[in-house]
Amino acid sequence: MLRTHTCGELNKEHIGQTATLCGWVDSIRDFGGVTFIDLRDRYGRTQVVFNPDARSEVIELASKLRNEHVIKVEGIVRQRPDGQFNHKLSTGEIEFVVNDLQVLNECKTPPFVPGQKDVPGEDLRLKHRYLDLRREKMLQTLQLRSRIIKTMRDYCADNDFIDIETPILGRSTPEGARDYLVPSRVFKGKFYALPQSPQIYKQIMMIAGYDRYIQVARCFRDEDLRADRQPEFTQLDLEMSFVDSDDVIGMIDGLMKRLAKDILGLDIQLPLPRLTYDEAMARYGHDAPDLRFGMQIVDCTEIARDCGFGVFKSTAESGNFVRGINASGAASKFSRKRIDELTAIVKDDFGAKGLAWFRCEEDGTLFSPVAKFFSEEHLAEIKSKMDAQPGDLLLFIADTWEVSCKSLYGIRKRMGAELELYDPSQMHFSWIVEFPMFEQVAESDQWSAMHHPFTAPRDQDLKDLDSDPGKTRAKAYDLIINGYEAGGGTIRIHDSGIQQKVFGLLGLDAESAQERFGFLLDALKYGAPPHGGIALGIDRVVMLFAGLDNIRDCIAFPKTQKAYDMMTEAPNLVEPIQLEDLGIKVSKTNANSSP
Ligand code: ASP
Repeated sequence: MLRTHTCGELNKEHIGQTATLCGWVDSIRDFGGVTFIDLRDRYGRTQVVFNPDARSEVIELASKLRNEHVIKVEGIVRQRPDGQFNHKLSTGEIEFVVNDLQVLNECKTPPFVPGQKDVPGEDLRLKHRYLDLRREKMLQTLQLRSRIIKTMRDYCADNDFIDIETPILGRSTPEGARDYLVPSRVFKGKFYALPQSPQIYKQIMMIAGYDRYIQVARCFRDEDLRADRQPEFTQLDLEMSFVDSDDVIGMIDGLMKRLAKDILGLDIQLPLPRLTYDEAMARYGHDAPDLRFGMQIVDCTEIARDCGFGVFKSTAESGNFVRGINASGAASKFSRKRIDELTAIVKDDFGAKGLAWFRCEEDGTLFSPVAKFFSEEHLAEIKSKMDAQPGDLLLFIADTWEVSCKSLYGIRKRMGAELELYDPSQMHFSWIVEFPMFEQVAESDQWSAMHHPFTAPRDQDLKDLDSDPGKTRAKAYDLIINGYEAGGGTIRIHDSGIQQKVFGLLGLDAESAQERFGFLLDALKYGAPPHGGIALGIDRVVMLFAGLDNIRDCIAFPKTQKAYDMMTEAPNLVEPIQLEDLGIKVSKTNANSSP
Protein backbone atom coordinates (compact mmCIF):
# COMPACT_ATOMS: atom_id res chain seq x y z
CA MET A 1 0.00 0.00 0.00
CA LEU A 2 1.29 3.46 -0.84
CA ARG A 3 -0.65 4.93 2.11
CA THR A 4 -1.32 4.06 5.73
CA HIS A 5 -4.67 5.85 5.97
CA THR A 6 -7.29 7.41 3.71
CA CYS A 7 -8.06 11.13 3.63
CA GLY A 8 -11.25 10.59 5.65
CA GLU A 9 -9.74 8.50 8.39
CA LEU A 10 -7.46 10.46 10.68
CA ASN A 11 -9.01 11.97 13.82
CA LYS A 12 -8.07 12.94 17.35
CA GLU A 13 -7.35 9.28 18.21
CA HIS A 14 -4.36 9.48 15.86
CA ILE A 15 -2.82 12.64 17.33
CA GLY A 16 0.95 12.19 17.62
CA GLN A 17 1.10 9.30 15.16
CA THR A 18 2.99 9.28 11.88
CA ALA A 19 1.08 8.39 8.74
CA THR A 20 1.21 8.45 4.95
CA LEU A 21 -1.65 9.83 2.85
CA CYS A 22 -2.26 9.88 -0.89
CA GLY A 23 -4.80 11.95 -2.79
CA TRP A 24 -5.66 14.92 -4.96
CA VAL A 25 -4.91 18.55 -4.10
CA ASP A 26 -8.39 19.95 -3.55
CA SER A 27 -7.38 23.48 -2.58
CA ILE A 28 -4.24 25.43 -1.66
CA ARG A 29 -4.01 28.31 0.81
CA ASP A 30 -0.86 30.20 1.64
CA PHE A 31 -0.59 32.06 4.95
CA GLY A 32 2.71 33.89 5.28
CA GLY A 33 5.01 30.99 4.51
CA VAL A 34 2.72 28.26 5.86
CA THR A 35 1.00 26.37 3.05
CA PHE A 36 -2.28 24.57 3.78
CA ILE A 37 -3.62 21.98 1.40
CA ASP A 38 -6.89 20.12 1.50
CA LEU A 39 -5.98 16.63 0.38
CA ARG A 40 -8.92 14.72 -1.04
CA ASP A 41 -9.79 11.14 -1.88
CA ARG A 42 -13.03 9.18 -2.06
CA TYR A 43 -13.21 8.95 1.71
CA GLY A 44 -12.84 12.58 2.67
CA ARG A 45 -10.51 15.52 3.07
CA THR A 46 -7.59 16.13 5.38
CA GLN A 47 -5.95 19.48 6.09
CA VAL A 48 -2.27 19.12 5.26
CA VAL A 49 0.25 21.70 6.54
CA PHE A 50 3.68 22.57 5.15
CA ASN A 51 5.56 24.45 7.88
CA PRO A 52 8.40 26.85 7.03
CA ASP A 53 10.75 24.65 9.12
CA ALA A 54 10.23 21.62 6.81
CA ARG A 55 13.12 20.50 4.61
CA SER A 56 13.86 23.01 1.84
CA GLU A 57 13.22 20.45 -0.96
CA VAL A 58 9.79 19.82 0.53
CA ILE A 59 9.00 23.55 0.73
CA GLU A 60 10.26 24.00 -2.81
CA LEU A 61 8.14 21.13 -4.13
CA ALA A 62 5.08 22.29 -2.17
CA SER A 63 5.31 25.74 -3.75
CA LYS A 64 4.80 24.09 -7.15
CA LEU A 65 1.68 22.17 -6.21
CA ARG A 66 -1.47 22.95 -8.19
CA ASN A 67 -5.10 21.90 -7.98
CA GLU A 68 -5.69 18.21 -8.76
CA HIS A 69 -2.05 17.15 -8.62
CA VAL A 70 -1.85 13.63 -7.17
CA ILE A 71 0.53 13.54 -4.20
CA LYS A 72 1.83 11.37 -1.40
CA VAL A 73 2.66 12.94 1.96
CA GLU A 74 4.35 11.50 5.01
CA GLY A 75 4.00 13.30 8.29
CA ILE A 76 2.52 13.53 11.74
CA VAL A 77 -1.02 14.05 12.98
CA ARG A 78 -1.58 16.97 15.35
CA GLN A 79 -4.55 18.70 16.92
CA ARG A 80 -5.76 21.82 15.12
CA PRO A 81 -5.29 25.05 17.08
CA ASP A 82 -8.24 26.10 19.28
CA GLY A 83 -11.08 27.70 17.35
CA GLN A 84 -10.03 26.11 14.07
CA PHE A 85 -12.02 22.88 14.32
CA ASN A 86 -14.21 22.06 11.32
CA HIS A 87 -17.07 19.95 12.63
CA LYS A 88 -18.37 19.22 9.14
CA LEU A 89 -15.35 17.03 8.38
CA SER A 90 -14.58 13.64 9.95
CA THR A 91 -10.98 14.86 10.06
CA GLY A 92 -11.97 18.35 11.26
CA GLU A 93 -10.20 18.23 14.64
CA ILE A 94 -6.75 17.38 13.29
CA GLU A 95 -4.25 18.50 10.73
CA PHE A 96 -1.40 16.66 9.08
CA VAL A 97 2.09 18.19 9.29
CA VAL A 98 4.23 17.10 6.33
CA ASN A 99 7.77 15.80 6.62
CA ASP A 100 8.02 14.44 3.11
CA LEU A 101 6.19 15.09 -0.15
CA GLN A 102 6.13 13.17 -3.40
CA VAL A 103 4.25 14.28 -6.51
CA LEU A 104 2.78 11.09 -7.98
CA ASN A 105 1.33 12.86 -10.98
CA GLU A 106 0.67 16.38 -12.13
CA CYS A 107 -2.62 17.72 -13.42
CA LYS A 108 -2.91 20.05 -16.40
CA THR A 109 -4.84 23.23 -15.63
CA PRO A 110 -8.32 21.68 -15.47
CA PRO A 111 -11.34 23.22 -17.25
CA PHE A 112 -13.04 23.22 -13.83
CA VAL A 113 -12.10 22.16 -10.35
CA PRO A 114 -14.22 19.57 -8.56
CA GLY A 115 -14.44 21.72 -5.43
CA GLN A 116 -15.81 24.83 -7.15
CA LYS A 117 -19.13 26.19 -5.90
CA ASP A 118 -21.04 26.51 -9.20
CA VAL A 119 -21.86 23.39 -11.12
CA PRO A 120 -19.91 23.51 -14.42
CA GLY A 121 -21.79 23.43 -17.75
CA GLU A 122 -23.08 19.96 -18.61
CA ASP A 123 -21.14 19.63 -21.89
CA LEU A 124 -17.90 20.29 -20.04
CA ARG A 125 -18.89 17.83 -17.31
CA LEU A 126 -19.68 15.08 -19.82
CA LYS A 127 -16.53 15.67 -21.86
CA HIS A 128 -14.26 15.61 -18.82
CA ARG A 129 -16.29 13.06 -16.88
CA TYR A 130 -13.17 11.95 -14.90
CA LEU A 131 -13.10 15.44 -13.37
CA ASP A 132 -16.86 15.66 -12.95
CA LEU A 133 -16.95 12.30 -11.16
CA ARG A 134 -14.54 13.81 -8.61
CA ARG A 135 -17.25 16.29 -7.54
CA GLU A 136 -18.70 15.43 -4.15
CA LYS A 137 -22.28 15.40 -5.41
CA MET A 138 -21.48 12.83 -8.12
CA LEU A 139 -19.60 10.68 -5.65
CA GLN A 140 -22.50 10.81 -3.18
CA THR A 141 -25.03 9.90 -5.88
CA LEU A 142 -23.02 6.96 -7.20
CA GLN A 143 -22.49 5.72 -3.65
CA LEU A 144 -26.24 6.00 -3.07
CA ARG A 145 -26.82 4.09 -6.31
CA SER A 146 -24.52 1.32 -5.13
CA ARG A 147 -26.36 1.10 -1.78
CA ILE A 148 -29.74 1.01 -3.51
CA ILE A 149 -28.63 -1.83 -5.80
CA LYS A 150 -27.14 -3.73 -2.87
CA THR A 151 -30.37 -3.37 -0.89
CA MET A 152 -32.35 -4.58 -3.91
CA ARG A 153 -30.09 -7.60 -4.33
CA ASP A 154 -30.10 -8.41 -0.60
CA TYR A 155 -33.90 -8.19 -0.44
CA CYS A 156 -34.30 -10.43 -3.48
CA ALA A 157 -31.77 -12.95 -2.13
CA ASP A 158 -33.64 -12.98 1.22
CA ASN A 159 -36.77 -13.84 -0.77
CA ASP A 160 -35.21 -16.75 -2.67
CA PHE A 161 -34.67 -15.03 -6.01
CA ILE A 162 -31.85 -16.35 -8.19
CA ASP A 163 -29.69 -13.79 -9.98
CA ILE A 164 -29.36 -14.90 -13.61
CA GLU A 165 -27.65 -13.17 -16.54
CA THR A 166 -29.35 -13.21 -19.94
CA PRO A 167 -27.78 -12.47 -23.33
CA ILE A 168 -26.93 -9.01 -24.61
CA LEU A 169 -26.66 -10.29 -28.17
CA GLY A 170 -30.09 -11.68 -28.81
CA ARG A 171 -33.25 -11.38 -30.78
CA SER A 172 -35.38 -8.31 -30.92
CA THR A 173 -37.81 -8.11 -27.95
CA PRO A 174 -41.01 -6.17 -28.49
CA GLU A 175 -41.07 -3.48 -25.77
CA GLY A 176 -42.31 -0.99 -28.31
CA ALA A 177 -39.12 0.96 -29.07
CA ARG A 178 -36.64 0.76 -31.94
CA ASP A 179 -33.88 -1.84 -31.51
CA TYR A 180 -30.15 -1.26 -31.46
CA LEU A 181 -28.81 -3.74 -33.98
CA VAL A 182 -25.47 -5.54 -34.09
CA PRO A 183 -24.45 -7.00 -37.45
CA SER A 184 -23.25 -10.58 -37.53
CA ARG A 185 -19.93 -11.30 -39.25
CA VAL A 186 -20.61 -15.01 -39.48
CA PHE A 187 -24.15 -14.73 -40.81
CA LYS A 188 -23.66 -11.82 -43.17
CA GLY A 189 -26.74 -9.65 -43.58
CA LYS A 190 -28.19 -10.89 -40.28
CA PHE A 191 -28.39 -8.92 -37.06
CA TYR A 192 -28.57 -9.41 -33.34
CA ALA A 193 -30.68 -6.95 -31.40
CA LEU A 194 -29.55 -5.58 -28.05
CA PRO A 195 -32.27 -6.42 -25.49
CA GLN A 196 -34.93 -3.79 -24.88
CA SER A 197 -35.43 -5.89 -21.76
CA PRO A 198 -34.76 -9.52 -20.83
CA GLN A 199 -38.54 -10.11 -21.08
CA ILE A 200 -38.63 -13.33 -23.07
CA TYR A 201 -35.58 -14.85 -21.41
CA LYS A 202 -37.02 -14.32 -17.95
CA GLN A 203 -40.30 -15.92 -19.01
CA ILE A 204 -38.34 -18.88 -20.37
CA MET A 205 -36.57 -19.16 -16.98
CA MET A 206 -40.01 -19.54 -15.36
CA ILE A 207 -40.97 -22.21 -17.89
CA ALA A 208 -37.69 -23.90 -16.98
CA GLY A 209 -38.85 -24.00 -13.35
CA TYR A 210 -36.46 -21.48 -11.76
CA ASP A 211 -39.45 -19.98 -9.89
CA ARG A 212 -37.92 -16.64 -8.87
CA TYR A 213 -35.47 -14.72 -11.10
CA ILE A 214 -33.83 -11.33 -10.76
CA GLN A 215 -31.21 -9.49 -12.72
CA VAL A 216 -29.75 -6.02 -12.58
CA ALA A 217 -30.15 -5.81 -16.33
CA ARG A 218 -28.92 -3.33 -18.89
CA CYS A 219 -31.60 -2.52 -21.50
CA PHE A 220 -31.25 -0.69 -24.80
CA ARG A 221 -33.96 1.28 -26.57
CA ASP A 222 -33.30 3.49 -29.56
CA GLU A 223 -35.89 6.19 -29.00
CA ASP A 224 -35.90 9.96 -29.03
CA LEU A 225 -34.62 10.87 -25.64
CA ARG A 226 -36.44 12.90 -23.05
CA ALA A 227 -34.82 14.46 -20.02
CA ASP A 228 -35.48 11.40 -17.86
CA ARG A 229 -34.55 8.74 -20.45
CA GLN A 230 -31.29 7.22 -21.63
CA PRO A 231 -30.67 4.91 -24.62
CA GLU A 232 -29.14 2.34 -22.30
CA PHE A 233 -30.51 2.06 -18.83
CA THR A 234 -30.57 -0.34 -15.92
CA GLN A 235 -33.54 -2.25 -14.59
CA LEU A 236 -34.09 -4.43 -11.57
CA ASP A 237 -35.77 -7.14 -13.62
CA LEU A 238 -37.79 -9.69 -11.72
CA GLU A 239 -40.04 -12.66 -12.51
CA MET A 240 -42.00 -15.06 -10.26
CA SER A 241 -43.97 -18.26 -10.85
CA PHE A 242 -47.36 -19.33 -9.46
CA VAL A 243 -48.38 -15.75 -8.69
CA ASP A 244 -51.07 -13.22 -9.51
CA SER A 245 -50.81 -9.39 -9.60
CA ASP A 246 -51.21 -9.00 -5.82
CA ASP A 247 -48.21 -11.24 -5.15
CA VAL A 248 -45.83 -9.28 -7.38
CA ILE A 249 -47.16 -5.97 -6.04
CA GLY A 250 -46.76 -7.28 -2.47
CA MET A 251 -43.16 -8.31 -3.15
CA ILE A 252 -42.30 -4.84 -4.48
CA ASP A 253 -44.20 -3.16 -1.62
CA GLY A 254 -41.78 -4.97 0.70
CA LEU A 255 -38.79 -3.85 -1.35
CA MET A 256 -39.94 -0.20 -1.28
CA LYS A 257 -40.39 -0.38 2.48
CA ARG A 258 -36.87 -1.79 2.88
CA LEU A 259 -35.37 0.82 0.52
CA ALA A 260 -37.21 3.73 2.15
CA LYS A 261 -36.01 2.57 5.59
CA ASP A 262 -32.43 1.62 4.73
CA ILE A 263 -31.68 4.45 2.32
CA LEU A 264 -33.77 7.36 3.62
CA GLY A 265 -34.64 6.29 7.16
CA LEU A 266 -38.35 6.56 6.30
CA ASP A 267 -41.09 4.30 7.60
CA ILE A 268 -43.71 3.81 4.91
CA GLN A 269 -47.10 2.22 5.44
CA LEU A 270 -47.99 -0.92 3.49
CA PRO A 271 -49.84 -1.81 1.39
CA LEU A 272 -48.97 1.09 -0.88
CA PRO A 273 -52.10 2.82 -2.19
CA ARG A 274 -53.52 1.61 -5.51
CA LEU A 275 -55.59 3.40 -8.14
CA THR A 276 -56.99 1.84 -11.25
CA TYR A 277 -55.91 3.29 -14.57
CA ASP A 278 -59.46 4.57 -15.15
CA GLU A 279 -59.51 6.32 -11.75
CA ALA A 280 -56.08 7.86 -12.39
CA MET A 281 -57.15 9.27 -15.75
CA ALA A 282 -60.43 10.59 -14.34
CA ARG A 283 -58.87 12.22 -11.26
CA TYR A 284 -55.44 13.25 -12.51
CA GLY A 285 -55.51 12.99 -16.31
CA HIS A 286 -52.43 10.75 -16.34
CA ASP A 287 -51.31 7.21 -15.55
CA ALA A 288 -48.38 8.40 -13.43
CA PRO A 289 -49.92 11.12 -11.27
CA ASP A 290 -48.07 12.97 -8.54
CA LEU A 291 -50.08 12.08 -5.45
CA ARG A 292 -48.13 14.29 -3.06
CA PHE A 293 -50.96 16.79 -3.39
CA GLY A 294 -54.70 16.78 -4.12
CA MET A 295 -56.18 19.17 -6.68
CA GLN A 296 -58.15 16.38 -8.34
CA ILE A 297 -59.95 16.82 -11.65
CA VAL A 298 -63.70 17.30 -11.31
CA ASP A 299 -66.08 16.41 -14.13
CA CYS A 300 -68.66 19.17 -14.72
CA THR A 301 -69.93 17.90 -18.09
CA GLU A 302 -73.46 17.37 -16.76
CA ILE A 303 -73.71 20.95 -15.44
CA ALA A 304 -72.27 22.20 -18.75
CA ARG A 305 -74.86 20.33 -20.81
CA ASP A 306 -77.68 22.73 -20.04
CA CYS A 307 -75.80 25.92 -19.16
CA GLY A 308 -75.95 29.03 -21.34
CA PHE A 309 -72.24 29.12 -22.22
CA GLY A 310 -72.04 27.91 -25.83
CA VAL A 311 -68.50 26.45 -25.60
CA PHE A 312 -69.36 24.30 -22.55
CA LYS A 313 -72.79 23.31 -23.85
CA SER A 314 -71.67 22.24 -27.33
CA THR A 315 -68.71 20.31 -25.88
CA ALA A 316 -71.02 18.34 -23.60
CA GLU A 317 -73.60 17.79 -26.34
CA SER A 318 -71.00 16.46 -28.75
CA GLY A 319 -70.02 13.74 -26.26
CA ASN A 320 -66.86 15.47 -25.06
CA PHE A 321 -65.98 16.66 -21.57
CA VAL A 322 -65.93 19.76 -19.42
CA ARG A 323 -63.56 19.11 -16.54
CA GLY A 324 -61.73 21.38 -14.17
CA ILE A 325 -59.45 21.72 -11.19
CA ASN A 326 -59.69 23.93 -8.15
CA ALA A 327 -56.37 25.70 -7.57
CA SER A 328 -57.17 26.37 -3.96
CA GLY A 329 -56.07 29.82 -2.73
CA ALA A 330 -54.48 30.67 -6.11
CA ALA A 331 -56.80 33.54 -7.08
CA SER A 332 -54.61 36.29 -5.62
CA LYS A 333 -51.40 34.71 -6.96
CA PHE A 334 -52.63 34.38 -10.55
CA SER A 335 -53.16 37.70 -12.32
CA ARG A 336 -54.94 37.91 -15.68
CA LYS A 337 -51.50 37.87 -17.30
CA ARG A 338 -50.53 34.60 -15.57
CA ILE A 339 -53.83 33.03 -16.58
CA ASP A 340 -53.16 34.12 -20.18
CA GLU A 341 -49.80 32.32 -19.93
CA LEU A 342 -51.55 29.13 -18.75
CA THR A 343 -54.01 29.48 -21.64
CA ALA A 344 -51.13 29.71 -24.11
CA ILE A 345 -49.56 26.58 -22.59
CA VAL A 346 -52.71 24.44 -22.86
CA LYS A 347 -53.23 25.64 -26.44
CA ASP A 348 -49.64 25.28 -27.66
CA ASP A 349 -48.51 22.23 -25.72
CA PHE A 350 -51.69 20.18 -25.44
CA GLY A 351 -53.85 21.30 -28.36
CA ALA A 352 -56.69 22.60 -26.16
CA LYS A 353 -59.02 25.18 -27.64
CA GLY A 354 -58.91 27.38 -24.54
CA LEU A 355 -58.98 27.65 -20.77
CA ALA A 356 -62.05 28.93 -18.92
CA TRP A 357 -61.56 30.29 -15.42
CA PHE A 358 -63.57 31.45 -12.42
CA ARG A 359 -62.35 33.28 -9.34
CA CYS A 360 -64.17 32.79 -6.07
CA GLU A 361 -64.52 36.29 -4.53
CA GLU A 362 -64.47 37.28 -0.85
CA ASP A 363 -68.28 37.26 -0.75
CA GLY A 364 -68.35 33.76 -2.27
CA THR A 365 -69.57 34.76 -5.73
CA LEU A 366 -67.83 33.44 -8.84
CA PHE A 367 -66.17 36.04 -11.06
CA SER A 368 -65.24 35.21 -14.65
CA PRO A 369 -65.26 36.93 -18.04
CA VAL A 370 -67.75 34.22 -19.04
CA ALA A 371 -69.86 34.30 -15.84
CA LYS A 372 -72.56 36.34 -17.60
CA PHE A 373 -73.46 33.28 -19.69
CA PHE A 374 -74.35 31.26 -16.61
CA SER A 375 -77.49 31.47 -14.51
CA GLU A 376 -77.21 31.92 -10.73
CA GLU A 377 -78.18 28.25 -10.26
CA HIS A 378 -75.52 27.01 -12.66
CA LEU A 379 -72.86 29.13 -10.97
CA ALA A 380 -73.97 27.74 -7.61
CA GLU A 381 -73.79 24.19 -8.99
CA ILE A 382 -70.27 24.75 -10.31
CA LYS A 383 -69.21 26.27 -7.02
CA SER A 384 -70.52 23.37 -5.02
CA LYS A 385 -69.25 20.66 -7.37
CA MET A 386 -65.77 22.26 -7.36
CA ASP A 387 -65.96 22.93 -3.60
CA ALA A 388 -64.90 26.55 -4.28
CA GLN A 389 -64.03 28.76 -1.29
CA PRO A 390 -63.17 32.48 -1.35
CA GLY A 391 -59.68 32.94 -2.88
CA ASP A 392 -59.87 29.79 -5.05
CA LEU A 393 -59.20 29.77 -8.79
CA LEU A 394 -61.19 27.30 -10.91
CA LEU A 395 -59.70 26.27 -14.27
CA PHE A 396 -61.72 24.38 -16.90
CA ILE A 397 -60.96 22.60 -20.16
CA ALA A 398 -63.84 21.81 -22.52
CA ASP A 399 -62.51 19.29 -25.03
CA THR A 400 -62.06 15.64 -25.93
CA TRP A 401 -61.17 13.21 -23.14
CA GLU A 402 -57.52 13.04 -24.27
CA VAL A 403 -57.01 16.80 -24.57
CA SER A 404 -58.71 17.48 -21.23
CA CYS A 405 -56.54 14.80 -19.57
CA LYS A 406 -53.29 16.15 -21.00
CA SER A 407 -54.12 19.80 -20.35
CA LEU A 408 -55.39 19.38 -16.80
CA TYR A 409 -52.49 17.05 -15.96
CA GLY A 410 -50.10 19.71 -17.27
CA ILE A 411 -51.71 22.58 -15.37
CA ARG A 412 -52.10 20.57 -12.18
CA LYS A 413 -48.41 19.61 -12.20
CA ARG A 414 -47.40 23.22 -12.75
CA MET A 415 -49.76 24.65 -10.15
CA GLY A 416 -48.75 22.01 -7.58
CA ALA A 417 -45.11 23.09 -7.85
CA GLU A 418 -45.77 26.83 -8.12
CA LEU A 419 -48.20 26.91 -5.22
CA GLU A 420 -45.77 24.75 -3.20
CA LEU A 421 -48.48 22.23 -2.41
CA TYR A 422 -45.97 19.59 -1.35
CA ASP A 423 -42.59 19.30 0.27
CA PRO A 424 -40.17 18.44 -2.58
CA SER A 425 -38.26 16.07 -0.30
CA GLN A 426 -41.41 14.06 0.49
CA MET A 427 -41.61 10.58 -1.09
CA HIS A 428 -44.93 9.16 -2.25
CA PHE A 429 -45.24 5.59 -3.53
CA SER A 430 -48.36 4.19 -5.20
CA TRP A 431 -49.58 1.71 -7.79
CA ILE A 432 -51.64 2.20 -10.91
CA VAL A 433 -53.36 -1.08 -11.81
CA GLU A 434 -55.71 -2.57 -14.39
CA PHE A 435 -54.39 -0.82 -17.46
CA PRO A 436 -56.18 -1.36 -20.77
CA MET A 437 -54.75 -4.35 -22.66
CA PHE A 438 -54.66 -2.42 -25.92
CA GLU A 439 -54.63 1.07 -27.28
CA GLN A 440 -55.77 2.09 -30.72
CA VAL A 441 -52.98 2.98 -33.15
CA ALA A 442 -53.61 6.62 -34.18
CA GLU A 443 -55.83 7.01 -37.24
CA SER A 444 -56.25 3.27 -37.81
CA ASP A 445 -58.33 0.38 -36.57
CA GLN A 446 -55.18 -1.45 -35.45
CA TRP A 447 -54.48 -2.26 -31.81
CA SER A 448 -51.14 -2.04 -30.09
CA ALA A 449 -50.21 -3.53 -26.71
CA MET A 450 -50.31 -0.96 -23.94
CA HIS A 451 -47.56 -2.82 -22.04
CA HIS A 452 -46.21 -5.65 -24.20
CA PRO A 453 -47.75 -8.54 -26.12
CA PHE A 454 -47.13 -11.12 -23.37
CA THR A 455 -49.44 -9.39 -20.89
CA ALA A 456 -52.42 -11.40 -19.60
CA PRO A 457 -55.93 -9.98 -19.59
CA ARG A 458 -57.91 -10.07 -16.34
CA ASP A 459 -59.74 -13.41 -16.05
CA GLN A 460 -63.15 -11.72 -16.25
CA ASP A 461 -62.12 -9.93 -19.48
CA LEU A 462 -61.00 -13.02 -21.43
CA LYS A 463 -64.44 -13.25 -23.00
CA ASP A 464 -64.15 -9.69 -24.39
CA LEU A 465 -60.91 -10.36 -26.26
CA ASP A 466 -62.81 -11.16 -29.45
CA SER A 467 -65.85 -8.94 -29.09
CA ASP A 468 -64.49 -5.72 -27.54
CA PRO A 469 -60.68 -5.70 -27.19
CA GLY A 470 -60.64 -1.98 -26.31
CA LYS A 471 -62.60 -2.76 -23.14
CA THR A 472 -60.30 -5.48 -21.82
CA ARG A 473 -58.20 -4.64 -18.83
CA ALA A 474 -54.80 -6.22 -18.20
CA LYS A 475 -53.18 -7.76 -15.17
CA ALA A 476 -50.74 -4.86 -15.33
CA TYR A 477 -49.34 -2.62 -12.62
CA ASP A 478 -47.03 0.40 -12.58
CA LEU A 479 -45.15 1.65 -9.54
CA ILE A 480 -45.33 5.44 -9.26
CA ILE A 481 -42.98 7.52 -7.13
CA ASN A 482 -43.65 11.28 -6.92
CA GLY A 483 -45.36 11.38 -10.32
CA TYR A 484 -42.75 9.27 -12.13
CA GLU A 485 -43.26 5.75 -13.43
CA ALA A 486 -40.57 3.95 -11.44
CA GLY A 487 -41.46 0.49 -12.71
CA GLY A 488 -44.01 -1.57 -14.53
CA GLY A 489 -44.94 -5.17 -14.96
CA THR A 490 -47.64 -7.67 -15.70
CA ILE A 491 -48.85 -11.19 -15.19
CA ARG A 492 -47.99 -13.03 -18.40
CA ILE A 493 -50.03 -15.16 -20.72
CA HIS A 494 -48.99 -18.76 -20.02
CA ASP A 495 -51.31 -20.40 -22.50
CA SER A 496 -50.13 -20.62 -26.10
CA GLY A 497 -53.71 -20.38 -27.47
CA ILE A 498 -54.38 -17.07 -25.70
CA GLN A 499 -50.93 -15.83 -26.68
CA GLN A 500 -51.72 -16.63 -30.35
CA LYS A 501 -55.02 -14.78 -30.04
CA VAL A 502 -53.35 -11.68 -28.58
CA PHE A 503 -50.70 -11.73 -31.31
CA GLY A 504 -53.57 -11.91 -33.80
CA LEU A 505 -55.27 -8.86 -32.27
CA LEU A 506 -51.97 -7.02 -32.55
CA GLY A 507 -51.97 -7.72 -36.27
CA LEU A 508 -49.42 -10.54 -36.13
CA ASP A 509 -50.76 -13.43 -38.19
CA ALA A 510 -49.97 -17.01 -37.19
CA GLU A 511 -47.10 -17.25 -39.63
CA SER A 512 -45.34 -14.03 -38.56
CA ALA A 513 -45.97 -14.84 -34.89
CA GLN A 514 -44.33 -18.23 -35.43
CA GLU A 515 -41.49 -16.58 -37.31
CA ARG A 516 -40.75 -14.01 -34.58
CA PHE A 517 -41.77 -15.74 -31.36
CA GLY A 518 -42.02 -19.39 -32.37
CA PHE A 519 -39.61 -20.38 -29.61
CA LEU A 520 -41.84 -18.77 -26.98
CA LEU A 521 -45.05 -20.21 -28.41
CA ASP A 522 -43.34 -23.61 -28.44
CA ALA A 523 -42.01 -23.19 -24.90
CA LEU A 524 -45.52 -22.31 -23.69
CA LYS A 525 -46.61 -25.76 -24.91
CA TYR A 526 -43.99 -27.55 -22.79
CA GLY A 527 -45.45 -26.96 -19.32
CA ALA A 528 -45.49 -23.22 -18.59
CA PRO A 529 -46.47 -22.23 -15.03
CA PRO A 530 -48.60 -19.13 -14.37
CA HIS A 531 -46.03 -16.37 -13.94
CA GLY A 532 -45.53 -12.63 -13.88
CA GLY A 533 -43.03 -9.98 -12.94
CA ILE A 534 -41.93 -6.41 -13.08
CA ALA A 535 -38.98 -4.22 -13.97
CA LEU A 536 -37.95 -1.19 -11.91
CA GLY A 537 -35.98 1.60 -13.56
CA ILE A 538 -32.90 1.78 -11.35
CA ASP A 539 -31.60 5.06 -12.79
CA ARG A 540 -34.95 6.67 -12.11
CA VAL A 541 -35.27 5.18 -8.62
CA VAL A 542 -31.80 6.56 -7.80
CA MET A 543 -32.80 9.96 -9.19
CA LEU A 544 -35.91 10.04 -6.98
CA PHE A 545 -34.18 8.77 -3.85
CA ALA A 546 -31.36 11.30 -4.41
CA GLY A 547 -33.90 14.11 -4.88
CA LEU A 548 -32.41 14.95 -8.29
CA ASP A 549 -34.21 15.82 -11.51
CA ASN A 550 -31.63 14.83 -14.10
CA ILE A 551 -31.15 11.13 -14.78
CA ARG A 552 -27.68 11.76 -16.26
CA ASP A 553 -26.50 12.79 -12.79
CA CYS A 554 -27.28 9.26 -11.56
CA ILE A 555 -25.24 7.39 -14.19
CA ALA A 556 -21.43 7.27 -14.25
CA PHE A 557 -21.13 7.59 -18.04
CA PRO A 558 -24.41 8.82 -19.50
CA LYS A 559 -25.15 9.89 -23.05
CA THR A 560 -26.49 13.21 -24.24
CA GLN A 561 -30.05 13.74 -25.48
CA LYS A 562 -28.70 12.74 -28.89
CA ALA A 563 -27.41 9.42 -27.52
CA TYR A 564 -23.82 10.68 -27.87
CA ASP A 565 -20.98 9.91 -25.49
CA MET A 566 -19.07 13.18 -25.27
CA MET A 567 -16.05 11.67 -23.54
CA THR A 568 -15.32 8.70 -25.81
CA GLU A 569 -17.03 10.31 -28.81
CA ALA A 570 -19.23 7.30 -29.52
CA PRO A 571 -20.80 6.54 -31.93
CA ASN A 572 -17.97 6.99 -34.38
CA LEU A 573 -16.69 5.87 -37.76
CA VAL A 574 -15.01 2.48 -37.97
CA GLU A 575 -12.22 1.18 -40.21
CA PRO A 576 -13.34 0.18 -43.74
CA ILE A 577 -11.96 -3.31 -43.09
CA GLN A 578 -14.36 -3.73 -40.17
CA LEU A 579 -17.30 -2.96 -42.43
CA GLU A 580 -15.96 -5.26 -45.11
CA ASP A 581 -15.74 -8.13 -42.59
CA LEU A 582 -19.40 -7.58 -41.80
CA GLY A 583 -20.41 -7.28 -45.45
CA ILE A 584 -21.74 -3.77 -44.81
CA LYS A 585 -21.69 -0.78 -47.14
CA VAL A 586 -22.62 2.59 -45.66
CA SER A 587 -24.96 4.40 -48.01
CA LYS A 588 -25.81 7.41 -45.89
CA THR A 589 -23.69 9.29 -43.42
CA ASN A 590 -23.89 12.45 -41.42
CA ALA A 591 -20.40 11.85 -40.10
CA ASN A 592 -19.41 15.48 -40.55
CA SER A 593 -22.35 17.00 -38.76
CA SER A 594 -21.63 17.89 -35.17
CA PRO A 595 -23.00 15.46 -32.58
N1 ASP B 1 -40.05 -6.03 -19.49
C1 ASP B 1 -40.93 -4.96 -19.11
C2 ASP B 1 -40.24 -3.63 -19.37
O1 ASP B 1 -39.04 -3.60 -19.47
C3 ASP B 1 -41.31 -5.00 -17.70
C4 ASP B 1 -41.99 -6.26 -17.32
O2 ASP B 1 -43.12 -6.48 -17.78
O3 ASP B 1 -41.43 -7.00 -16.51
O4 ASP B 1 -40.90 -2.60 -19.47
